[in-house]
Amino acid sequence: NTLSTITDTDGTASTDHPLLLHYNENSLGLSPKAKNAIVDVLSNVNRYPDSYIEELQQTIAEAFKMDTKQVTLGVGSSDVIRAVVNQQVYKATQKGQKIQLITPHPSFFLAADHAQGMGIPVVSIPLDTNFCMDITKMKQAADSFDGISIVYLCNPNNPTGTLTSSATIADWVKGANADKNYFMVDEAYAEYITDKNFVSGTSFIREGRDNVIVLRTFSKIFAMAGMRLGYGLSTEKVAKELVPFMAILNISMPTAVAGTASLKDSAFIQQSRAMNSNSLAMTTEAFDALDIKYLPSQGNFLFHQVKCDQKQYIEGMAAEGITIGRPFPPLMQWSRVTLGTPDEMNQFLTVIKKFKKKGWV
Ligand code: PLP
Repeated sequence: NTLSTITDTDGTASTDHPLLLHYNENSLGLSPKAKNAIVDVLSNVNRYPDSYIEELQQTIAEAFKMDTKQVTLGVGSSDVIRAVVNQQVYKATQKGQKIQLITPHPSFFLAADHAQGMGIPVVSIPLDTNFCMDITKMKQAADSFDGISIVYLCNPNNPTGTLTSSATIADWVKGANADKNYFMVDEAYAEYITDKNFVSGTSFIREGRDNVIVLRTFSKIFAMAGMRLGYGLSTEKVAKELVPFMAILNISMPTAVAGTASLKDSAFIQQSRAMNSNSLAMTTEAFDALDIKYLPSQGNFLFHQVKCDQKQYIEGMAAEGITIGRPFPPLMQWSRVTLGTPDEMNQFLTVIKKFKKKGWV
């Protein structure tokens, strides 16, 4: 997508420099401490990055009170998702077992796409009536399969922003046959969650479960989408099994130091959270006033109802210099907008008001 390479230079929406509200990135830009760390390390990039990668792993491990050996670093969390699918398919093939992937739908596409590319069946389970993952139906799909199920759980879910009950997920994970169910818990937006009932999937790792991996990313709250950095948290055994599926020294020195500095930059994390909650509040208030339906969001994006054709809505926004999320079939009367800065949301809302008059929302 060429639009993703165009950045908004002065913060004003225009077709030449659109406001990028389509990929759930962080409009604040990189943490200043991460920027400095990148600049400082440039004089060392003639060397291999081993020690910088180790420091990053250690910083992540400390944040979760885990061991460094439990951290699998990837070129974005997408890279870890890919490796997990490859590793599970390899393992099942070795054992002569069948394997499938179960995904909520719509959700982040990558696990399902990769599984499909690997030639394994993908079972898509529609979201429930609250737009949350339908755990009962996902479990039924796993229980009725005579092989291994890779279960992709996305919490909060992208594109809906909805949180699925942690207790319901825990009931399944704790009661599941660990030889038949492998849970991939994608928590890309976890740092934005405000719901006090959320319990991270990392609790399963602390219980020593070898059939769970939790995925996190630096692309969202840490504003590092362009640096490509994500990680998996698992037991040491699971992390070790993934090693042959990861490239060696896969994280560049600048990316590693940016990750370490970002994780330690609590002021930046707070600022990002505060910006997100301000932008969420002002957007939902405006939607309420305009009688536009939306789902409760626990991420940095808002899934809202549209009354016109998706293509018309997306192209209409593009003509106003704003890029928003792609269509998410079968939910064709809904659209996803990323929560940018309050100023960006003001510009988005100005367009929304025009669209309201046209009957598009
Ligand atoms: N998981 C979810 C739920 C996402 O929404 C995204 C990106 O939008 C990713 C993973 C991929 O992130 P990364 O940039 O770490 O590969």
